[in-house]
Amino acid sequence: MSENCIFCKIVAGTIPAQVVYEDDQVLAFHDRAGRAPVHVLVIPKRHVASLDALTEAERGEAGYWLERIAHVARLLGVDQTGYRTIINTNAHGGQEVFHLHGHILGGKPIGPMVAR
Ligand code: AMP
Repeated sequence: MSENCIFCKIVAGTIPAQVVYEDDQVLAFHDRAGRAPVHVLVIPKRHVASLDALTEAERGEAGYWLERIAHVARLLGVDQTGYRTIINTNAHGGQEVFHLHGHILGGKPIGPMVAR
């Protein structure tokens, strides 16, 4: 747990969230500013600041987290229609919360990959 991390506080239950999936390693909850009919964040419970902060030792954990993103997308019913998974990293990636998370966006065509 990282002291001032909002997602660690969600994991700890001190900040509320609309949880859609939880196990011992991973938590998934609705984004509070949903940008699509389905917009869910999937995080490893253990604090990792960003994709860039992942280490070789965390490969197994990261692989599990990625597989759980697909699992959560199936739970949300967007697997057949499709969805976009986004991992924003550091400043140019637009990362706002420095606890690793994957966005699942779906429920409608999500549009171009990057705004032109
Ligand atoms: P990113 O730009 O990839 O770091 O995205 C962070 C996301 O976290 C944004 O889409 C926010 O709307 C979302 N967010 C921030 N705080 C909360 C919260 N307390 N509960 C749910 N979503 C949050």
